[in-house]
Amino acid sequence: MPQDARVPGGVAILRIAAEDALTAPPPRVSFQGTRVLVVPKTDGWFALVGLPLALRPGAYEVEVSGAAGLERRFTVADKAYPEQRLTIKDKRKVTPPPEDLERIERERQAVEEIKQRFRDEPGVDLDFRAPADAPLSSRFGLRRVFNGEPRNPHSGLDLAVAAGSQVFAAAAGVVAATGDYFFNGHTVFVDHGQGLITMYCHLGRIDVRPGEAVAKGQRLGLSGMSGRATGPHLHWSVILNRTAVDPELFLAGGRPQ
Ligand SMILES: [Zn+2]
Repeated sequence: MPQDARVPGGVAILRIAAEDALTAPPPRVSFQGTRVLVVPKTDGWFALVGLPLALRPGAYEVEVSGAAGLERRFTVADKAYPEQRLTIKDKRKVTPPPEDLERIERERQAVEEIKQRFRDEPGVDLDFRAPADAPLSSRFGLRRVFNGEPRNPHSGLDLAVAAGSQVFAAAAGVVAATGDYFFNGHTVFVDHGQGLITMYCHLGRIDVRPGEAVAKGQRLGLSGMSGRATGPHLHWSVILNRTAVDPELFLAGGRPQ
């Protein structure tokens, strides 16, 4: 299980039903209209709710159908993420020219469609490994300023891999899509089931195909610096209920140095 972190960009782990409900079908849980991942543990059914970075601190509630919903309400605390200033020489990658905007918008919609997938998978693999054997170089949630201009906060975790290093599936799943994107470069999406999707960006080579089942630790490709990258690194994102959450919460046991 990931760490329970009830902050913007975190994951709220809610005990929805007690152990005596484990023989019944899983409760169906939604947050702000989007279905969320529900897994069994020895002491009941648990919902893993991805909390958007833009979520305001305060009181929230999940919608539960079927079961009673033991823990429906939860409180999101504030979290101040640090700021990161970057200088990118290729100005085209910071402020894309008008001719690229159509491509960027098309890709944004394609990625949004992938994030919205909800594949019924009772045995979601939550026992993640780090997607590369490399130190962490940039954390999730950093408020980024490129060439003095504020940009979206960092939606993933960066690992400082040299170009040509192996990139591994963090857990078992199915390759949802692969592509070459303006910002993220060569990218692999792995669907672990129930809206849990991992994304591996800036690759130099992709070794898997959409629809292929992958095992935890299977090589997806090699690292690189395709797309908007200041140097070779792996950008890794974790999506839950269409929301990018802090990947470090999933690496409690095997977090990179
Ligand atoms: Zn990144």
